Amino acid sequence: MATLRRIFGYTWRYPWRAVATLVLAAVCTLLVLVLPALSKEFTDEVIPKGQTERILPLALVGLGAIALRQVLFTLRTVSNNVFEQKVVHDLRTELYGKIQRLPLRWFDNQPTGDIMTRVASDVPAMERVIIEGLDQGLSGVLQFVVVFGYLLTQHAGLTLLTVAPLPVVALAVRIYQKRVEPRYKAASEAGSALNSLLHDNIAGIRQIKAYTVEPEELERFEGRSRDVQTAQLSVVKANAVIWPFVSLVAESGIVLTIAFAAWWICRGTATLGTLSAVLMSWGLLYDPVSRVNPLTQLFTAGIVAGKRVFAVLDQTDEANFAEGRRLEELRGAVRFEGVAFSYGGEVPTVAGVDVEAQPGQTIALVGPTGAGKSTLLNLLTRFYEPDSGRILLDGEPVSGMSKEWLRDRIGYVTQESFLFNASVRENLTVAKPGAEDEEIWAALESANAAEFVRRLPEGLETVTGERGTRLSGGERQRLSIARALLKNPPILLLDEATSAVDNETERLIQEALERLRADRTCFVIAHRLSTVEKADRIYVMERGRVVESGRHGELLADGGLYARLCAGGLKEEAAVSA
Ligand code: ATP
Repeated sequence: MATLRRIFGYTWRYPWRAVATLVLAAVCTLLVLVLPALSKEFTDEVIPKGQTERILPLALVGLGAIALRQVLFTLRTVSNNVFEQKVVHDLRTELYGKIQRLPLRWFDNQPTGDIMTRVASDVPAMERVIIEGLDQGLSGVLQFVVVFGYLLTQHAGLTLLTVAPLPVVALAVRIYQKRVEPRYKAASEAGSALNSLLHDNIAGIRQIKAYTVEPEELERFEGRSRDVQTAQLSVVKANAVIWPFVSLVAESGIVLTIAFAAWWICRGTATLGTLSAVLMSWGLLYDPVSRVNPLTQLFTAGIVAGKRVFAVLDQTDEANFAEGRRLEELRGAVRFEGVAFSYGGEVPTVAGVDVEAQPGQTIALVGPTGAGKSTLLNLLTRFYEPDSGRILLDGEPVSGMSKEWLRDRIGYVTQESFLFNASVRENLTVAKPGAEDEEIWAALESANAAEFVRRLPEGLETVTGERGTRLSGGERQRLSIARALLKNPPILLLDEATSAVDNETERLIQEALERLRADRTCFVIAHRLSTVEKADRIYVMERGRVVESGRHGELLADGGLYARLCAGGLKEEAAVSA
């Protein structure tokens, strides 16, 4: 009930549309009474008394009522659909807005396909409850009450016989709802799991092809698809049993009604006209009852979907996004003091880390893979919060700062250069909305990317493809460097790419990075000798701890892990952690 009440809460954003839906439904319902009333009039008055002059006017009243009902029906369809689309739009946007404000930890545990299912399928399923519930549900109740009231005025005994089966119908629906809700939930979860796999596999289609695991992946897909099939069929089976039973009980009422009507007519306590009106109204009375079937299914599916949507809407937003301290001027001094952090496992991912950068310095982080280098950068951007210790920016703890302000001042060039499926221009201006063409080209020049962008079929307007697949790795890297240059942040985080590119591209990228690093505090996860040699300080990490720090020459002379890493692989253009 709480979920249902919350779902209906969305209608009150558009009170006039809700009222229009109700009024149109009510008027259409009242108009259905015209035909049984006419039928009674013909049977009891016009025919026995030979009132031929009343036939045409009464027929015209009937036709008028039917025409008006259809006109109102058209209005009702349009009005309801506008209402429906407005509510879906609001809900979808609210849900997406919420998803964007959730902390990264939430995304770590949530498959993308599942999130997409919630936005794309659960929102419409939940909204259908609102519109159909208001329109079909309420108009059904209204139609039932009105027809029932009309029948009572005709013959109380016949009317009570007509509705006698309803308590059994109500009990059956109640039992059905209890039984079928878990089945709808299972079907929804199975659908979501299928979408998650589909999303993952389409994103990884190159890997699937390269490792020729198509048969295995098809098998996995088949498994999930079969889960959906089983879950859906279990819903269908429940429906297949309950609804014929409901119809059987409901229709048995009409046999009782006819039998008793015959008895009462023979005894002279009812007229043929009454029977004709009752028989015409029976359909109108049971029409709402027949809607119970689709409506119950729709409500059950909607409640399950609503719970999944509300589960996201009820998550706590990332704290401190817009609110928090904003420094007047940022020099760019960064200090990690005894920082410890864990993604959730028992062993901390980083522990007791002390790292310092003076404004404008380049700090290199090196160490074996999984040592915790990227994690440190994720803590500085406050994608995650340290479990203990603190991080200071110009001497102030970042924990009290606005994340929006902080992230606006940090440029992050990741190893995998992610591009959106949008134009080159749109990919760049995420760093600086509204940037002029001149600035964009200047950034592209500095990133050694201008030449290839000029050669693209539509220049800046060329769409890069999903995750930038229409560009080469080296081109993607240079575009992401241009993006960081356009942002021109006082602090730069750089995860050097380990993937090999040809010597000329490598030279262009190194040059671009050199320009990007200039005049700002820079943390580089370094994989190249040329980078560490130039760094003002190198921190060597192993299993989440800083085990050595100093300049290249000093560390080499110490003969520790760094020296071993250098000997093992830190060569010109080679990866430390490879
Ligand atoms: P590399 O050089 O390979 O990129 P790294 O030194 O940057 O490695 P991190 O990415 O910081 O290492 O990862 C440190 C540890 O944390 C690894 O063991 C990794 O499995 C784990 N880890 C990283 N990200 C997450 C996450 N989102 N959830 C759980 N564990 C994670």
